[in-house]
Amino acid sequence: MGIRIYNTATRRKEEFEPRDEGSVSMYVCGPTVYNHIHIGNARTFLSFDVVRRYLEYRGFDVSFVQNITDVDDKIIKRANEEGRPATEVAAEYTTAFQDAMASLGVAPPTVAPKATETIPEMISMVRRLIEREYAYEVDGDVYFSVRSFSDYGKLSGRDIDEMNAGSRVDVDDRKRDPLDFALWKAAKPGEPHWTSPWGEGRPGWHLECSVMSEKELGVTFDIHGGASDLIFPHHENEIAQSEAATGEPFVRYWMHGGLLQVNKEKMSKSLGNFMLLKDVLKDYDASAVRLMMLQTHYRSPLDFSDDRLDEARTSYERIITPIREVRAATEQPALRRDVQAGAEDRNELLAAIESARERFISEMDDDFNTAGALGALFELARATNRFLGEFGVGEGESNVPLLRQAGNALEELLGVLGITVAERPRSAYPQTVVALARDLAGYEGEDVERAVDALLAARAAARTEKNWAAADAVRDGLGELGFSVEDTSSGARIIYDSRI
Ligand SMILES: [Zn+2]
Repeated sequence: MGIRIYNTATRRKEEFEPRDEGSVSMYVCGPTVYNHIHIGNARTFLSFDVVRRYLEYRGFDVSFVQNITDVDDKIIKRANEEGRPATEVAAEYTTAFQDAMASLGVAPPTVAPKATETIPEMISMVRRLIEREYAYEVDGDVYFSVRSFSDYGKLSGRDIDEMNAGSRVDVDDRKRDPLDFALWKAAKPGEPHWTSPWGEGRPGWHLECSVMSEKELGVTFDIHGGASDLIFPHHENEIAQSEAATGEPFVRYWMHGGLLQVNKEKMSKSLGNFMLLKDVLKDYDASAVRLMMLQTHYRSPLDFSDDRLDEARTSYERIITPIREVRAATEQPALRRDVQAGAEDRNELLAAIESARERFISEMDDDFNTAGALGALFELARATNRFLGEFGVGEGESNVPLLRQAGNALEELLGVLGITVAERPRSAYPQTVVALARDLAGYEGEDVERAVDALLAARAAARTEKNWAAADAVRDGLGELGFSVEDTSSGARIIYDSRI
């Protein structure tokens, strides 16, 4: 069986069949660039980054389009408050967005069209809609008439009359129906504007996604993604515009990500729990943030908290440790063990590699179940650790090819989720560890690595002599500097975290 995707439009999982064999056309609504992005937006973009990476891993050629909304009420408001041009605000936060995405390890889109660079195409779609009598002009504004499009409400399962009755929509006499939305807005003095058949103005927000997706991906493309709070009205309006203008279906698979809460509350400025991605990344590695978010299915609500981030940081260390250890085993004599693994043990690790890969694929095929896929990788990490602890590199390094195979599989599959193995630079150990080694292990050199080795040797000697107080003193001293010591069957192992 191939990939199955939960389609919001049909409310069920469907077998994924792209429009063109072997390639995928995909559009995800991008940011309005008036501020730094918060972690709720970051989660959505991360989810679709993983969808894209996985489709590529499965051999598809993916065209990934994400727009930049660089003209909008919010941008204009901020520019007015700060007394500078809207273009300057938009440029600043476009760069900030791209930087933030790069630091989270989100791959750049194939194309990232800007609203302000697609104005002629937008004017042309508005004209098409007026010609086909789906839109009307009033005093320089152009509105889409929701009642002219009989399928309006089909994505969100809403009915126009119920929506009108249930909401407190401002009655605007110029609109034929309160739900009619602006395709084109007449410019107010001091606002950015472009010349159009309806006078000086600027495009409405919903319009740009219809126009840019058609321009870059064509009519009826494969996957349209966004957070679930965009289903109505934004995506409903996109469908109305595109299907009315082309007479063809707009999108084959609608995917929506769940929302994010902070400490079980909705994130909002008034609650004081509003978190920006750039601030979170000051304290946590991107891979730990990714791991934490991917432990929840993309459609489920995600609870964000420092505790969960701390847990994810530990989980991250646990899952990548075998990769580092396999690399280190051939270099660091302290980790070497010359035990020949028997056929049964070797086969067991081989089977673990095989089954991790199979389970990873079947979980990801099932509507991108990243939590299940990570579970498979944790299992492989445990099996590799166990083997390494018991047999090390083996006699004549005979275990090395098998260990490498396990380490490479783990690294490759983590890479599909965008989780990378951070190299721990040797210089990352703090200089203070040298003084500790001098005090507790009689070390006389200046090298931080050797100082740690000396401390571990002193601790091992103290344990052999059953001098528990001395052994604990070493462990506690290291702990204060950010090292944790783990005892394995092949000896003590050190994990270092500079932020402790
Ligand atoms: Zn959109």
